[in-house]
Amino acid sequence: MVVKTAVSAGRADLHTHTTASDGQGAPAVNVRLAREAGLAAVAITDHDTTAGIEEALAEGARLGVRVVPGVELSTMQDGVEIHVLGYFVDWRDERWRERLRAQRNARARRNAMMLERLAELGLPVDREEVERAADGRASGGVIGRLHIAAALVARGYVSSVAEAFERYLGNGGAAYVRVPRPTPREAVDWIHEAGGAAVIAHPGLYGRDDLVEALLRAGADGIEAYHSDHGPDDEARYADMAARLGVIATGGSDYHGERDGKAFHGPLGGRTVDASVVDLLEAASRKHR
Ligand code: AMP
Ligand code: ZN
Ligand code: FE
Ligand code: FE
Repeated sequence: MVVKTAVSAGRADLHTHTTASDGQGAPAVNVRLAREAGLAAVAITDHDTTAGIEEALAEGARLGVRVVPGVELSTMQDGVEIHVLGYFVDWRDERWRERLRAQRNARARRNAMMLERLAELGLPVDREEVERAADGRASGGVIGRLHIAAALVARGYVSSVAEAFERYLGNGGAAYVRVPRPTPREAVDWIHEAGGAAVIAHPGLYGRDDLVEALLRAGADGIEAYHSDHGPDDEARYADMAARLGVIATGGSDYHGERDGKAFHGPLGGRTVDASVVDLLEAASRKHR
């Protein structure tokens, strides 16, 4: 008897950043890297912006790589910064765009306050230096802590981006500043209202599985079980949680390009899921249209 195994649709990396936010590669570059890695699909999930999506879609059409439109929103609950991924949102939706603008404004205020804190700590860097550190980013691209970290390295205040986060910029670091952010539940609602599917990003980084589980029960469509910063135990635990709660288990590298010769958080294609997960996300997004 001939046993037919399901034909694999290929692999998908569902979490990558571009020059539209704090990634190093233009959107088209990520698509090319996906193709070189032999992936069937790649998602563009920049922080608080969808500006990279059109370019990636065009390159994907050219190269035969399926490009999944995405976004990563910063939210806050119980003092924990939680990232929520949105897939297949209608990025032209006016209310959605307004909400993203508010996110970017909160971020800009936060960045300014962090620079003030750094100056008070005797580590002055001005805005222009941060902009320079973000050179190569798309014009109007979102500035983040990774760019501030690069500016601190350029000044010689720290020897690496990792040290910049450890000492100053990481949650709880000496220059870390919090600004009001939506709760993860609000972000899930925004994504649904824009016709998208909502996924809790890198749950292993929060140390709050209770909170993650509550969000899945409250209507998030999926959980990012596979991520460059997850160990095998994390991945197994979150895959189990997804199966138990009947939500989608997603995964991705969180590729940001290379700094100091290292891929943060991992190389593109370093974490993947079966490309059929893309169809599950698209189906989930359709429920919200
Ligand atoms: P932001 O969106 O400006 O708050 O910055 C968040 C980004 O900073 C994340 O997407 C990571 O790329 C980066 N990041 C956060 N913590 C660290 C860390 N400990 N080391 C390196 N990068 C980090
Ligand atoms: Zn980032
Ligand atoms: Fe994140
Ligand atoms: Fe990310």
